[in-house]
Amino acid sequence: MTEANKQLEIQILQLQKDNQILLQSIEDLKQLQRDCEQMIGENNATLLQSEMARMELEQIFSVYSDPMWVLREDGSVIRANDAMLKILRKNKEDVIGKSCSTFLEHHLCKSESCPLKSIHDGKTHEFDVQLSNLTDNINNYYLLTTAPHITIDGNPGIIAQLKDITSRRQAEKDLEQANIALEKMALIDGLTQIANRRCFDDTLEKEWQRLKRTEQPISLLLGDIDYFKKYNDHYGHQAGDECLQQVGQALAGVVLRPADLAARYGGEEFVLLLPEDAADGALKVAERAIEAIKALQIPHQDSEVSGIITISIGVATLIPTQDQQPATLIALADEALYKAKEQGRNRVLSAQS
Ligand code: GH3
Ligand code: MG
Ligand code: MG
Repeated sequence: MTEANKQLEIQILQLQKDNQILLQSIEDLKQLQRDCEQMIGENNATLLQSEMARMELEQIFSVYSDPMWVLREDGSVIRANDAMLKILRKNKEDVIGKSCSTFLEHHLCKSESCPLKSIHDGKTHEFDVQLSNLTDNINNYYLLTTAPHITIDGNPGIIAQLKDITSRRQAEKDLEQANIALEKMALIDGLTQIANRRCFDDTLEKEWQRLKRTEQPISLLLGDIDYFKKYNDHYGHQAGDECLQQVGQALAGVVLRPADLAARYGGEEFVLLLPEDAADGALKVAERAIEAIKALQIPHQDSEVSGIITISIGVATLIPTQDQQPATLIALADEALYKAKEQGRNRVLSAQS
């Protein structure tokens, strides 16, 4: 073998080696390509998933029935859902990037309690707001809930949601009114429309305690219609009821001071409670009561004391003390009333006299 042939053979061997290496490199590159393709595929799937998730969230936000918007710290609107756009009567383009106070002017906006100020405390807040420039309803009540939020560019923001609570507020107001009416009803006598026994008992207890502290007198007038059973028997129960109504209203007109109370004690018995009134003043009121009933001129043919409806009154006065109860005052007035009946009716008798 010549030297030249030897050299050629070495070169051929070298070329074969190089070829081997090249083939291996091609294989490696193919593998790399396959790996890259797999990675790109996986990446695309992840991207698709996150895009779908974003769209899903966008859709939920968009169709959520309560008005919502996302705001930056300076109050500019990043996004607003359909419900919010609807109550603002605006298009998306008119709202995005503008300040929230352009659309919802509220006294909270200019105060220290502006919801945007709570952006950094990391808490959810609730505000009762009355917004008058929304929808056709003039005074709508909303519950505004704000939650801290990091915007897509990494800055602090807020998610604000409005819940229309107008009908709930109205129901609460109606309930309040109903409760007031109910409370009033519980203290008013259905027939005579003056205070009832419960109201009298409560007032007596309160006034007794108050006057015990100030050591002032309290007077009680206990009045009872004379021969009322005979009135009912003669004129009928309906007429009896009407008579009670007139007597109740007349007695209510006799007491003048704000603290005084006229009440139906029960049946055909009435009380006049006169806080801070001493015996002589109470007697004068009792005489006025007798005159007021007389002035009604209600015919009572079967009365044994007069041709018209009359009343007998027992008067009692006490300065409340520790060892006496309100019942003592009632018992004294009752005793005096009994004596007034005994002594001929249509008169006033005082427990002290
Ligand atoms: P006196 O002069 O001793 O008080 O005699 P009186 O008949 O008034 O007393 P009595 O206690 O015997 O009768 C009271 C009557 O009052 C009997 C009852 O039918 C009547 N009465 C009580 N409550 C009502 C009411 O709500 N409506 C009517 N119509 N009558 C009533
Ligand atoms: Mg009676
Ligand atoms: Mg009577």
